[in-house]
Amino acid sequence: MGAAAGVVDDASFARAAFAVVSSSPEASANQQAMHHVLDGSPSSQELSAQLLSSDKPRKKKKVVKKWRDEWADTYKWACVQMVEGSSRIFCSVCKEYGRKHRRNPYGNEGSRNMQMSALEEHNNSLLHKEALRLQLASKDRGITLLERPIYIKALLSKSAESIIETVIRRDPHESEYIQAVQEIVHSLEPVLSKNIQYLHVLESLLEPERVIIFRVPWVDDKGEKHVNRGFRVQFNQALGPYKGGLRFHPSVNLSVLKFLGLEQTLKNALSTFSFGGAEGGSDFDPKGKSDTEVMRFCQSFMDELFHHIGPNQDTLTGDIGVGFRELGYLYGQYRRLTGEFECALVGGRNLLANSNLHAEAAGHGLVYYAKHVLADLNRDIKGLRLCLISGSGKLAMHVMEKLIAVGAVPVSLSDSKGFLLDDEGFDGSKAMFLKDMKSQQKPLREYTRRYVRAKYFDDARPWGEKCDLAFPCATQNELNHSDALAIISSGCHVIVEGSDMSCTAEAIDVLRKSKIIVAPSKAANAGGVAVSGLEMASKSNQMHWTGEEVDTKLQELMRDIYQKSVAAAAACGHSKDGPEALVHGANVAGFLRVAQAMLEQGCV
Ligand code: NAP
Repeated sequence: MGAAAGVVDDASFARAAFAVVSSSPEASANQQAMHHVLDGSPSSQELSAQLLSSDKPRKKKKVVKKWRDEWADTYKWACVQMVEGSSRIFCSVCKEYGRKHRRNPYGNEGSRNMQMSALEEHNNSLLHKEALRLQLASKDRGITLLERPIYIKALLSKSAESIIETVIRRDPHESEYIQAVQEIVHSLEPVLSKNIQYLHVLESLLEPERVIIFRVPWVDDKGEKHVNRGFRVQFNQALGPYKGGLRFHPSVNLSVLKFLGLEQTLKNALSTFSFGGAEGGSDFDPKGKSDTEVMRFCQSFMDELFHHIGPNQDTLTGDIGVGFRELGYLYGQYRRLTGEFECALVGGRNLLANSNLHAEAAGHGLVYYAKHVLADLNRDIKGLRLCLISGSGKLAMHVMEKLIAVGAVPVSLSDSKGFLLDDEGFDGSKAMFLKDMKSQQKPLREYTRRYVRAKYFDDARPWGEKCDLAFPCATQNELNHSDALAIISSGCHVIVEGSDMSCTAEAIDVLRKSKIIVAPSKAANAGGVAVSGLEMASKSNQMHWTGEEVDTKLQELMRDIYQKSVAAAAACGHSKDGPEALVHGANVAGFLRVAQAMLEQGCV
């Protein structure tokens, strides 16, 4: 590790820190193991096992053991951040580097011995070494590090690490995509260690099959010209034609769409149907635009996209900023350009799977999934008084509606400006009022004029309010580290992710330590895909199902997805009441289905 001294910000720190480390025989075993893990020598697995097993609790004062227990988890994280123009790797425990990194993150609590012991643990951690190694690797290989902080999980196997390194090296600025990849690779470690073939499949899977980027010129109502960027990431088609959302939002970029495409691939694989995964969109913001402006934009967008989509190739559904109006305009232009109507009939009505049904099924499915999670905790969703929902778009409104229908009480909604809290809970008539308000594009705050006891909080999120269940349904990473701390104090037991990747990696870490169960979006919001599959099946079998029959089938599909996730988690050693079991289970079950298809199809 001596070489590392040259790359940390303060060389004397590096030497000093490791002098402390090597003073303990246990520490030097760890250091040796890490060295082998990093240099990939044949004994690395053995030594990494030794590395893990050597972290036995010692008989020291209770407070030190507490630190060690907490840190054992926290060690897994490092953070790359730009400071004063250069990228540095920070410890996520103390958010410091170099000499300052030696500071006891617990301040001056405890005796000096305790502090030293904690410091030794810290410096000796996998995290610290991972930070050094990443910094070294990035320097040697000319990797441009990220401009925004990204949390790097230290993985235990060299092969898993190398996969993440490749992704970071290729696209270092794609922080959302790297975050999604890390979560998946972390879940897959037990699978990869047992079957080397999957390693190559995973490498292949993580590179999207096709990325289409195009210019979208359009003219506003005043005659001014604008240009936006359009995308379609056709991520993986091993299981069947691509299917996935379209998002119109100023924050759309390749990183966001790649992460959504990857999530969609595994989500579609979790359903019993055979769809590949894709995601597309544009940095166009439909908010504040007239219908004719939105129509002109959608037509221009489709002028290019129609070359790449079709019922047996790629089908589109809605996502943020793309609802009934946008899908209608897109479909109209698709039909004009292709002259196809029959062959474009997918999803009951047209190429663009029925957006209302899709979002409704995703929202209702989320509540059915939550029911299964709660049933395994011996709790019933009926009568749960406090359900927090974020967002007030298509998904959030359907979640609210279903919660009311099953006898639970949703109390909040939000938008990008703040959140609405009605302590008395939303009921059927309030839900109707909210839907009306939203259809007239009125701000959420309007609700408080009619229901005066409700409150609207500006620039805030609902996660600090008392709750039993939380349904984040707005956007990715909407629940961060401080929200996670707030939600723990609010009494929440389960978080059911409606928005894709609702929680930041740091938030997941905090929730896991507090044993709050996270139901991952790729399983919990898969109801939309499931119902699209049902529609296609009903069409090809020339069958007609009533609304009740579709709902019964949706419930069965959500139960199936839940059970698959639990079984996959159990096979990897996670019990179903473990906080991250459902996350790991969904990743493993989804991946294995895609991986099997990819293996059968050769080098694809
Ligand atoms: P939507 O109808 O456009 O609604 C999005 C909601 O989220 C709006 O209330 C919006 O508030 C809020 N929001 C968006 N960006 C935000 C931000 N940065 N901070 C705070 N609030 C923000 O979209 P949707 O279809 O409901 O989708 C919501 C989430 O569900 C997305 O993550 C999507 O991927 C996921 N999802 C959707 C479906 C579906 O069929 N629609 C299916 C599965 C998963 P403003 O109106 O103020 O912007």
